[in-house]
Amino acid sequence: MPDTRLIRTFLEPEHIALAERATAFATSKIGKRPAPADDAAARKEARALLGLFGSGGWLQPVFDLDARACSLMRDALAEASPLADAVFALQGLGTTPILLGGSAAQKERWLGPIAQGRVMTAFAMTEPEAGSDVSGIATTARREGSSFVLDGVKTLISNAGIADLYVVFASTDRTKGSKGISCFLVAADTPGLRFTGPQVLSAPHPLGEIALESCRVTPDALLGAEGRGYALGLATLDRLRPTVAAAACGMAARALSESLAHAKERRQFGKPLAEFQLVQQKLARMATDLAAARLLTYRAAYEKDKGQERITAEAAMAKSFATEMAQRAVDDAVQLIGGRGVLADHPVERLYRAVRALRIYEGTTEIQQLIIAGELLK
Ligand SMILES: Cc1cc2nc3c(=O)[nH]c(=O)nc-3n(C[C@H](O)[C@H](O)[C@H](O)COP(=O)(O)OP(=O)(O)OC[C@H]3O[C@@H](n4cnc5c(N)ncnc54)[C@H](O)[C@@H]3O)c2cc1C
Repeated sequence: MPDTRLIRTFLEPEHIALAERATAFATSKIGKRPAPADDAAARKEARALLGLFGSGGWLQPVFDLDARACSLMRDALAEASPLADAVFALQGLGTTPILLGGSAAQKERWLGPIAQGRVMTAFAMTEPEAGSDVSGIATTARREGSSFVLDGVKTLISNAGIADLYVVFASTDRTKGSKGISCFLVAADTPGLRFTGPQVLSAPHPLGEIALESCRVTPDALLGAEGRGYALGLATLDRLRPTVAAAACGMAARALSESLAHAKERRQFGKPLAEFQLVQQKLARMATDLAAARLLTYRAAYEKDKGQERITAEAAMAKSFATEMAQRAVDDAVQLIGGRGVLADHPVERLYRAVRALRIYEGTTEIQQLIIAGELLK
């Protein structure tokens, strides 16, 4: 459960109630689901989880553009199941550009089915040659009559192959660099959009590559103004970055609770591990780092909800600090639990595989540090 006493300065009463409901839901309905055995099972499970979120109304915080509520959801879900957290997060990542830049007709068409979990979204920005440097996007969208024709490859795309709707970033004018990037809503069954195959992660997480081959879309697929796709993408990532930090906090909280339980239970040299000071030092560091990360996380989300236009530095600090902290906490938990901690499907072994990607996706730690330094040196 996200520690709402620690972060209460940043929350409204309805957030505290949501944290309690989300934790109860995550514990009773999500945490007990069996972990998928392979990538195919993870893909099926992701769709099942989305259906569960949709039918229970759990995606509402995304539609409210409530950064603190989304963070609390991710914090609670990630503690129970990193895959469930990813499903929630990715529906947010695909929906936020529509909420921020969509026309009335686009919202009318897509938002209802997305909220109900009937339409799964994907955010297709990364390319083989455009990772951290998004301005290098080489996918093109050229005008032909009133249509746009998209050509290119998108790689490392979460939900690729199981999504119904792709938010695709493509260049409508390569001479303008990032100012020539536009954003398109492309339904998965559009001729010319092809799922070329999964990219299998060590943790359950549907990921893959898509190709756009003379993929023709009508003008109403353009999301926001032509040439404003880069800005829309960055505004989406800026808004959602605190939620990645929140997921990291949830994983670290699970690492800490598993460690505490084990340290009290396991006896060596005639006493519980918890009585050894070297073990206590690990527990103390995990708890302190987690508290610091949560304060940074909910501070950033609070500033966004209170109307701050950009939370560039706050979100970058939260994301880089919390994800690095979670990696250390999970590693400490494995160490503290010992041999059992590296056995396949021990909760901390699963966390160990899941936590790693957080330091990479939606902007690596190094990129967050560049962002923070850029703000300092302005
Ligand atoms: C699990 C997972 C899910 C993902 N889901 C999606 C998704 O749904 N949609 C999507 O569009 N993308 C997605 N991605 C892609 C992700 O956003 C990219 O992996 C990320 O932006 C980094 O790009 P890259 O992997 O090409 O690494 P690169 O950009 O090649 O970076 C490699 C290394 O170089 C460092 N580096 C790069 N530039 C600099 C610099 N200027 N200074 C110092 N160091 C630098 C980086 O920090 C990193 O350590 C996902 C990735 C993962 C792992």
